[in-house]
Amino acid sequence: MELISYPKSRFIKVKCNKCKNEQIIFGKSASEIKCLVCGNVLAIPTGGKTKIKAKVLEVLE
Ligand SMILES: [Zn+2]
Repeated sequence: MELISYPKSRFIKVKCNKCKNEQIIFGKSASEIKCLVCGNVLAIPTGGKTKIKAKVLEVLE
């Protein structure tokens, strides 16, 4: 499992570990972000930061 914290508001391109779906998520979300294809949790909010639980492909400024 890959856990990376992004403190700033960014869009992050991630790849689901389960179904390999690529999805762009908002780096500072107030709620869990799930894969649109399989429902796997991609990111969880933790007090202002977001922990990414998927493969990070790209961080978009
Ligand atoms: Zn998925």
